[in-house]
Amino acid sequence: MFALADTPEKMLTLTPAQIERAIYPVGFYKTKAQTVLDISRVLVEKYDGRVPDEIDELLILKGVGRKTANLVVTQGFQKPGICVDTHVHRISNRWGYVRTKTPEETEMALRAKLPQPYWIEINDLLVAMGQTICHPTSPKCSLCPIEQYCAKIGVVRSR
Ligand code: SF4
Repeated sequence: MFALADTPEKMLTLTPAQIERAIYPVGFYKTKAQTVLDISRVLVEKYDGRVPDEIDELLILKGVGRKTANLVVTQGFQKPGICVDTHVHRISNRWGYVRTKTPEETEMALRAKLPQPYWIEINDLLVAMGQTICHPTSPKCSLCPIEQYCAKIGVVRSR
């Protein structure tokens, strides 16, 4: 997609079909292509073609939730933020480090408890851990390097 258009202004010269072809086979590619155009239009009209670097401003954009907003400020701007996806939410609760019901609650709990130098890297670390060891069902606890520190909250079956 960025080979076709690497600015919001250039993106607006593309048709939805061109963007769909560029991002296929990502899920919901038709909806996402239209969202790319809608956001590009807002960025050009309200932000002089620049992506905002504040979470609250990013949340106003269509299709942008807290996970994406945190990802943009941390990866795009190297500003503090905690990107909480399903892995970060599940694993930090299994540890007993937080006790929360939703990723949004987990983000707020981690902001209150996790020292800021670790905010950005916790996402990369726990996504990798969730994909390889601490699976949603039947985590591989016998292979886990931090098993001794984990309360295994909610784990009913493990390997
Ligand atoms: S001990 Fe088991 S539940 Fe705890 S983090 Fe490791 S794999 Fe996950």
